[in-house]
Amino acid sequence: MPGEFIDVIVDADIAKDAELAKKLEEICPVSIFAASADGVSIDESNLDECVLCDLCLQAAPKGKIQIVKLYDQ
Ligand code: SF4
Repeated sequence: MPGEFIDVIVDADIAKDAELAKKLEEICPVSIFAASADGVSIDESNLDECVLCDLCLQAAPKGKIQIVKLYDQ
């Protein structure tokens, strides 16, 4: 099930970068990113656990990951 409060959008440009996928999997404290040889995927069941730490935003090229606060819209 997608998040009720948070959505995380990974730009298609970087979604297939296996190296970055690994980094994101390691960096996110609440395991929202899952890495595989095909790149990164989002574990939707963890989306609402996002603590807005911005570590993923810092790890990825600027603007390529978006944290969407669904409750703000
Ligand atoms: S902001 Fe932090 S908790 Fe949220 S997805 Fe990025 S790394 Fe994970």
